[in-house]
Amino acid sequence: MTIASRVNALRNSIPTGVKVVAVSKFHPVEDIMQAYEAGQRIFGENRVQELLPKQEELPADIEWHFVGQLQRNKVRQIAPFISLIHSVSSERLMREIDKQAAANNRVISCLLQVHIAEEESKSGFHPDECRKFLAEGRWRNYPNVQLVGVMGMATFTEDREKVRAEFRQLKSLFDEWKANYFQDAPAFKEVSMGMSDDHPIAIEEGSTMVRLGTVLFGSRG
Ligand SMILES: *Cc1c(COP(=O)(O)O)cnc(C)c1O
Repeated sequence: MTIASRVNALRNSIPTGVKVVAVSKFHPVEDIMQAYEAGQRIFGENRVQELLPKQEELPADIEWHFVGQLQRNKVRQIAPFISLIHSVSSERLMREIDKQAAANNRVISCLLQVHIAEEESKSGFHPDECRKFLAEGRWRNYPNVQLVGVMGMATFTEDREKVRAEFRQLKSLFDEWKANYFQDAPAFKEVSMGMSDDHPIAIEEGSTMVRLGTVLFGSRG
């Protein structure tokens, strides 16, 4: 199957209203262009040094998302163009994004990454830590950051019910925070969950944004 046919197949299988972020990390610009020509416009990368040259070379109407762990000293480089940062996992990082967004006269959309998996290796706010951050209203100190929802990664396991329970937990945190803090913020509406292996479950559990690499571009070798 070509990349274009995979893009089209996914478009037919994923419900309208669920956005597809094509995670193009480790794949060359030629592959990205194949997806682009098939109509894909949202692409995600997880390393700043890989994203920058791709962003320069590729069409300007691509919406670039940052999906991986982001070091604070790299925020400055992506602040002029990044559309959505999925991986805000600390107040310190949010403060830096706010500062760099302001320096570019921008408001940058961000997701609160929440740690829902069993594995320690996956990053994100602990749910209680994030709840406290919101309850204390500290997030309001960063006017150049617009919070538009949550993101999470499930445990890497064959146990589908465990994956489902973790996604369900993330959706329920989203619903709680939406009701408590973002009732009047229509932009707070995204639940970024689901990757190549588990996106059908994530969609059943309320995902609005799936981040797909392997199913679109093949394995990263
Ligand atoms: C690499 C990556 C993905 C895509 O993974 P696949 O399993 O290839 O679909 C999604 N989200 C994040 C945060 C990633 O780093």
